[in-house]
Amino acid sequence: MFNALLLTQEGKTTQAQLGQIQDSDLPEGEVLVSVSASSLNYKDGLAITGTGKIIREFPMVPGIDFAGTVLESSDDRYQAGDKVILTGWGVGENHWGGMAERARVKADWLVPMPVDCDEHKAMMIGTAGLTAMLCVQALQEGGVRPKDGEILVTGASGGVGSVAVTLLAELGYKVVASTGRVEENGDLLRSLGASDLLAREELEAKSRPLERQRWAGIVDTVGNQVLATALAQMNYGGTAAICGLAGGFALPTTVMPFILRGVRLQGVDSVACPFEKRQQAWEQALKILPESFYRQACQTISLGQVPDYASQIVKGQVTGRVIVAL
Ligand code: NDP
Repeated sequence: MFNALLLTQEGKTTQAQLGQIQDSDLPEGEVLVSVSASSLNYKDGLAITGTGKIIREFPMVPGIDFAGTVLESSDDRYQAGDKVILTGWGVGENHWGGMAERARVKADWLVPMPVDCDEHKAMMIGTAGLTAMLCVQALQEGGVRPKDGEILVTGASGGVGSVAVTLLAELGYKVVASTGRVEENGDLLRSLGASDLLAREELEAKSRPLERQRWAGIVDTVGNQVLATALAQMNYGGTAAICGLAGGFALPTTVMPFILRGVRLQGVDSVACPFEKRQQAWEQALKILPESFYRQACQTISLGQVPDYASQIVKGQVTGRVIVAL
């Protein structure tokens, strides 16, 4: 028997409880993994609190990512003892996930642990960090260079936001961090590399279709009016990499930034991102992130603390990355 966080549904309420399960309870898959760490992402918060309709079948073990050691594998790509990372693919949503001491998953969903990485470090990056790296790559693919001007990162204190601020600053971009918590997190964001801060309220005000050009690029984790206003402020030819909806899934924009300023809107998805792109993003993130990021922007909690932190993350009260030690 081993420990797991189990989600059940009573009426319309989702309940999260620590429990004990065994290998035979785990879903089908070619690879059985001893999980060392998972992490808490916004989507886990929605799933665990039942705020979003993330989970449709109960009971469910949440945890959209994990890192650990292979115990058994019927797939040639993995052998017992191999260290692996999993993010996405609906794990923790419709397939039991990382918030248990063991998981059984498809070999296709795994990425071998990169050299110079371990399970804890992998989860300090986690789904959020991988997504941030994919957003940065989207800006680069859009031709945005450090000399082009400032990059806006929205939801900057969150998991994706804090990694994006760090990666961009390390790559030489001038980063403006937009946050609803300037007082609380301003110092941290500056020490991660932000050269300026912008209060979230300034972007929440309804904008005209076009405003003064301010941003060479955007990494947006928030959506809604914040993104719409930022798009209206985009420089000619700029790229916005958008991955999140922490402020809502609407996008009340107009065609103007796109047809008059040639702005590129690039969606970013980490869940079904192809293997080669995923592996390359992991390697790049590990190369770019400085040791100070792991020290400053990450905290570790136990499985028992997850429900409390899940409530906090959906209220926008968690800063940086939260690692769940198993
Ligand atoms: P976090 O909760 O860690 O970060 C979100 C941040 O957004 C908060 O810290 C807060 O930053 C800001 N925020 C919170 N609530 C609001 C609000 N109501 N209005 C405006 N801003 C708000 O989440 P993650 O970093 O894990 O994820 C961020 C987003 O990206 C989520 O929507 C998530 O679903 C999405 N995502 C998408 C992925 C993909 O593959 N497309 C993968 C991973 C995440 P501050 O206090 O600084 O303003």
